[in-house]
Amino acid sequence: MPENLVEIKELHKSFGDNHVLRGIDFKVAQGEVVCVIGPSGSGKSTLLRCVNLLEVPSSGTVLVAGEDLTDPDGNIDAARRHIGMVFQSFNLFPHHTAISNCMLAQQTVLKRGKKDARKVAAENLDRVGLTDKHDAYPAKLSGGQQQRVAIARALSMEPNLMLFDEPTSALDPELVGEVLTVMRRLAEEGMTMLVVTHEMAFAREVADRVVFMDGGVIVEQGTPDEVIGNPQEARTKEFLRRVL
Ligand code: ADP
Ligand code: MG
Repeated sequence: MPENLVEIKELHKSFGDNHVLRGIDFKVAQGEVVCVIGPSGSGKSTLLRCVNLLEVPSSGTVLVAGEDLTDPDGNIDAARRHIGMVFQSFNLFPHHTAISNCMLAQQTVLKRGKKDARKVAAENLDRVGLTDKHDAYPAKLSGGQQQRVAIARALSMEPNLMLFDEPTSALDPELVGEVLTVMRRLAEEGMTMLVVTHEMAFAREVADRVVFMDGGVIVEQGTPDEVIGNPQEARTKEFLRRVL
């Protein structure tokens, strides 16, 4: 495994004449937790989506675990298989139980047998604190519990990189903590994580590195103390003044 699990070079992405990502160079080391912050519309989600090719970059390269996702001859599916993604909206299948939600992709994508898939799913539901909810349908779960199922589902694919796009933004305030707790534990276990978040306290406490984006570029990055505690750029200061 290369030292950098993610390596992005000169990444550009346009939607029509909307030039959204304007030259992103960026690395995530094995085991590193990177939080991406920045105003709405700055390209944070687009960046994350380019890392697992939910969006196809206009130019530049995206390497994940040494695999070039932008190489048309590369094995994109194989590379992508090791990337888990958790969205703001949980996107669970409503007519499947929690455990079934965690089994489906294992069976279809990884071709795991039902028994093995169930075992892995159960382990990961336990891991996110949902031991008593294996057989619950999403509608019977709180938003925080649904998001934890979504995390367990991603973990059931045994990813070596987890992407989180504002995983707590759709939650009632009292449910945010339980999801952040699960994410904090994952970080402590050594999971490599790229997290778009507005939770500055979480970023300060858990991130090894904070990246501030604005206008499709990385304006500044560094330790949480540097970027959140002592920002250098006017745009970073302005953003933090609004969110802190
Ligand atoms: P952020 O996550 O920082 O709020 P986004 O990456 O979602 O920013 O969006 C950045 C810009 O890209 C916005 O102007 C948005 O309208 C545009 N954009 C994002 N996704 C698409 C898409 N699939 N099609 C067209 N425009 C898009
Ligand atoms: Mg976004």
